[in-house]
Amino acid sequence: MNNNIVLCDECGKEFLIVPKVKQHGNGIEETYFNCGHCDHKYIAYVTDAGARKQRETVRKMYKRLEGLTSVDQSRSQLAKIKMAKAGLGKRMDRLKAEFNGE
Ligand SMILES: [Zn+2]
Repeated sequence: MNNNIVLCDECGKEFLIVPKVKQHGNGIEETYFNCGHCDHKYIAYVTDAGARKQRETVRKMYKRLEGLTSVDQSRSQLAKIKMAKAGLGKRMDRLKAEFNGE
C-alpha cells in the first residue's frame, strides 16, 4: 500500500498514504495513516498476536502450495488457504470494529 494516493472523505483532497504502526500493548498493532491536508485518521488494519500468527500460517500454506505438483492437492490446498484467509479476515474485521468503537 506504499505510494498509494487516495481521496480524503473528510476534506475531499488527494493525499499520499504513509502507513504508520502504533503498538497498543497486549500485542495489538494498529496500522493507520493520516490525511496530509486535514490530518483525518484512517485505520488501515489492526492485528493482534493471534491474527499475526494466522497470517504467518497463511504464508506457510502458500509456500506449501508452491511445492505441490498434483492438481487435486493444489485444489485442496487452495481451499484450505481460502478458509484460513476468511478466518483471518473475520478476526481482523472484528479487531478493527472494536478499535473504531473506542
Ligand atoms: Zn483530509
